[in-house]
Amino acid sequence: MDKIKINSRRLADTFLNLVSIDSPSRHEGRVAKWLKDWFRDFPGAVVTEDGSAMETGSQIGNLVVRLKGNKDRPPLFFNAHMDTVEPGTGIKPVFSNGIFRSDGTTVLGGDDKAAIAILLEAANCLQENKLDFGPVEMVFTTCEEIGLLGAKALDASMLWAEAGYALDSTDPDAVINRAPSAVRFHVEVHGRSAHAGINPEKGISAVKIAADAVSSAPQGRIDDETTCNIGIIKGGTATNIIPDFVTVEGEVRSHDAAMLRKIQDELIGCFYTSVRKYNPKNETKKPYITSTVKDDYPLMNVPEDHPVVDAVLRAGERLGRSLRLEKTGGGSDANIFNQKGLATVILGIGMQKVHTTEEFIALSDMEKTCRLVLEIIQCWK
Ligand SMILES: [Zn+2]
Repeated sequence: MDKIKINSRRLADTFLNLVSIDSPSRHEGRVAKWLKDWFRDFPGAVVTEDGSAMETGSQIGNLVVRLKGNKDRPPLFFNAHMDTVEPGTGIKPVFSNGIFRSDGTTVLGGDDKAAIAILLEAANCLQENKLDFGPVEMVFTTCEEIGLLGAKALDASMLWAEAGYALDSTDPDAVINRAPSAVRFHVEVHGRSAHAGINPEKGISAVKIAADAVSSAPQGRIDDETTCNIGIIKGGTATNIIPDFVTVEGEVRSHDAAMLRKIQDELIGCFYTSVRKYNPKNETKKPYITSTVKDDYPLMNVPEDHPVVDAVLRAGERLGRSLRLEKTGGGSDANIFNQKGLATVILGIGMQKVHTTEEFIALSDMEKTCRLVLEIIQCWK
């Protein structure tokens, strides 16, 4: 395996090219065009754009690239997302001492362009080293950073593969097979306004009701599997008016579906308890609350004995590396792929401090991941 040559200079150049093309969420058109052009010259590659643009509001759909391979093996897919977070326009990458950084005014965009560069280099290596491989699909999604919209709108029946890898995490030695599900909630507290100095007795403060609820609600790390956060509170109009309206927004995440619902119910319950203190028999129209809870992304839990886990661990062993299985606290396209019946685990690619202007990645970690991808493709039977 170590006979496979990775062209580091080319990998670096591809990455520098990719991050220099602006692609904030919904504006992935130019980078998608660049990818289409790249694969146009690639022997046997077929690029399909799906119809998700209508749904996501992006300039372009998800791209599915298919390399047919030369062996009769089950198909396998790899995923990376094309969009980057803000500030991410006009990225000027700096490469020094083996590390890529931005100039400090934007993110680097290694999340997730490093993954794209790794996959393109892997495709080159398959070709140049005349390796045996079965069908490989590459799924380049849009709008990952704004709610996994591209993956959600992807027509999974377009893919031949039923299993694969999302390259979208930090630690190159970690393989993520578990990720939580999450819900977002939005609570509206309706009180009654009154002049704060002239007739405060007539008012019911929505701020007070919300504050009571928030102070008794579960928050932070609930247990090993579950977290909960109230992230936004808005309300009130003037210091001399008793506030009649407050909105409270937050989220619950858990690796345990039952626990997620329990905390969600407990949390919303705190608002009902609080409002009842002011309106015990529900006799008056105010105060009252309304609440909505939306599923953000579903649970991901790929069993440890699944072939997609087995293949990456074996690939690691063959490269003399010890990879660890891990769970993450965040959601990504992989949650959605799993929900759509595509068994997907997440590989770390070495990107650090993502979503900040201090984001960086080492070329050596990208090479490492590229080798792993090539070895997985060899291991996959
Ligand atoms: Zn990402």
